[in-house]
Amino acid sequence: MNKTVYFDNNATTKVAPEVLAAIEPYFCELYGNPSSMHTFGGQVGHNIRDARQQTADLLGCEPEEIVFTGCGTESDNAAIKGAIAAQPNKRKIITSRVEHPAVLQVCRDLEAEGYTLAEIGVDSQGSLDIDQLEEELDESVALVTIMHANNETGVVFPIEQIAEMVTSRGIIFHTDAVQTAGKIPLDMKESSIDLLSISGHKLHAPKGVGALYIRKGTRIKPFIVGGHQEANRRAGTENVPGIIGMGKACELAKDNIEDENTRVKDLRDRLEQQVVAKCSNCWVNSKEAPRLPNTSNISFEYIEGEAILLMLDQLGICASSGSACTSGSLEPSHVLRAMGVPFTAAHGSIRFSLSRYNTAEEIDYLAEHIPAVIEKLRELSPFAKK
Ligand code: PLP
Repeated sequence: MNKTVYFDNNATTKVAPEVLAAIEPYFCELYGNPSSMHTFGGQVGHNIRDARQQTADLLGCEPEEIVFTGCGTESDNAAIKGAIAAQPNKRKIITSRVEHPAVLQVCRDLEAEGYTLAEIGVDSQGSLDIDQLEEELDESVALVTIMHANNETGVVFPIEQIAEMVTSRGIIFHTDAVQTAGKIPLDMKESSIDLLSISGHKLHAPKGVGALYIRKGTRIKPFIVGGHQEANRRAGTENVPGIIGMGKACELAKDNIEDENTRVKDLRDRLEQQVVAKCSNCWVNSKEAPRLPNTSNISFEYIEGEAILLMLDQLGICASSGSACTSGSLEPSHVLRAMGVPFTAAHGSIRFSLSRYNTAEEIDYLAEHIPAVIEKLRELSPFAKK
């Protein structure tokens, strides 16, 4: 296959052609500042209003409850720091051990500043320890921030049950839904979630735009201050093309959500069946847990994920590993470690994440070539049983 086979959609996605067409006029034709008094800028303000409605429609909320941000990381930072700052007398934060660094690092930095932090664990399937969460809820808790779905394993937490448990005690609840928006339905009208983060580039909008849902009445202080944009909740001249793209991408995501849960899920299952059948000593992580339809995390024992990725790359296949090379030593993913995946397998874990643009032909191409990659690396591995 002489084209790129892209199985790294949880890292970032292709901009949808319809999104590209929608944003194109906002660079050289409709470039006015939406805050300007003149009609030229004012019309852009109207179009932002439409994008806000499209985004709200995907989340099932009111447009006034959407604040556009620069990315998912900013939404997470704004939610956590903003909720904490609004309640100076409460000094405890609860999160999970498997969050993305956009949440985990913020919480750990706050811990270093003197907050008490509780990190809730997961079981071997990556499911959250709900009992531990309940035990940690007390009057000192300012915020609970627990992700909706995990970016590495695809495990979906029972977010409504968690939100209800937290908010019924008068505690603010934030969820990082960066990996779920557009993949599984969200409906804030039927939900107890107070704050929810999403990111444009994970759902076929451009990079550099995100959104934070803030339920009406939620106590939160603005994270970026300055001008009056976003109803005084996020200062800074709007990334107009990004916002227009986010709106269009949300509209498309809403239309495609069934495809995601049928065709994309079937492709994911086909990938897992073929890879596990054709390669030895490998398994799908979190297979028994509720998972996103597009994500598969496969452990190949006794080999390095980085080596697999390099060889797949030579075949034009893009995937990712949970490991990160830090200060010369290879650290296995904090998510797989929290699940207790053995060291010999956590190092050789590969995430394949699909989108509506993937095809069965691409899955078959991977399945045809990956057995030889695994076999070759096992032959070279000093740890593999020979
Ligand atoms: N949260 C999760 C679960 C993610 O997967 C990511 C990105 O990988 C982020 C937050 C950060 O989003 P962004 O890249 O838009 O800052």
